[in-house]
Amino acid sequence: MMEKLSAKEFDENYKVILEQLNNAALSSGRNVDDIILLAATKTVDPDTINYAINSGIKYIGENKVQEFLQKNDEIINVHKHFIGHLQTNKVKDIIDKVELIQSVHSIKLAKEISKQATKHNKEMSVLLEVNIGNEESKSGFSAEEIYEAVHEISELDNIFIKGLMAIPPICDTPESNRKYFAKMNKIFVDIRSKKIDNSSMDILSMGMSDDFSVAITEGANLVRLGTALFGKRIYK
Ligand SMILES: *Cc1c(COP(=O)(O)O)cnc(C)c1O
Repeated sequence: MMEKLSAKEFDENYKVILEQLNNAALSSGRNVDDIILLAATKTVDPDTINYAINSGIKYIGENKVQEFLQKNDEIINVHKHFIGHLQTNKVKDIIDKVELIQSVHSIKLAKEISKQATKHNKEMSVLLEVNIGNEESKSGFSAEEIYEAVHEISELDNIFIKGLMAIPPICDTPESNRKYFAKMNKIFVDIRSKKIDNSSMDILSMGMSDDFSVAITEGANLVRLGTALFGKRIYK
């Protein structure tokens, strides 16, 4: 876990981020209200998360199923997303507790989500994860596979594709990720233009604490921020 953040530290972090969001939106000619700020809350304690929610955070994302379930009952009045690597056998644990699964990385996982959503009589919204840097260590569809994946998953029952998500390679400077963000945006716009049934393609989730301004100028409309809001984590 991380050391508990003081209210004052959060307030300061949040204020700076809102300014940076505004600037990034302005410089790309967009409305800041069209950009979703999601707090990545892994390792953050429920009190701090609730403080953030009371301060104006409307979206949170957790990474690990076990940690999500431990905290879930204490967290209310916020949109909950799942953003971490999801194992097929854990889908049933979160299917009725989150609004969006951002990290659908395989057809097998999508099929299980479809199955569990059908069981719960709900439609589950998802983003498909693209391994935009083609990294061995990361999951997700490659830039080549993603088109076929959207088609295939859009045909499953009770699953709705709202967009794409990406975690580019760890880079020394935010600028070095610009090419990946630009490539993601191109794929996103291209797929959206095909107007595939059971998909809307209106969310492009990319950009984290170090590079969210660059991501926004390249088209992101959902950024996931952990460290910038809550301070450094002791473990990832
Ligand atoms: C932890 C995490 C983030 C936030 O990372 P920071 O660099 O701390 O902002 C965003 N997305 C995912 C999927 C994460 O696991």
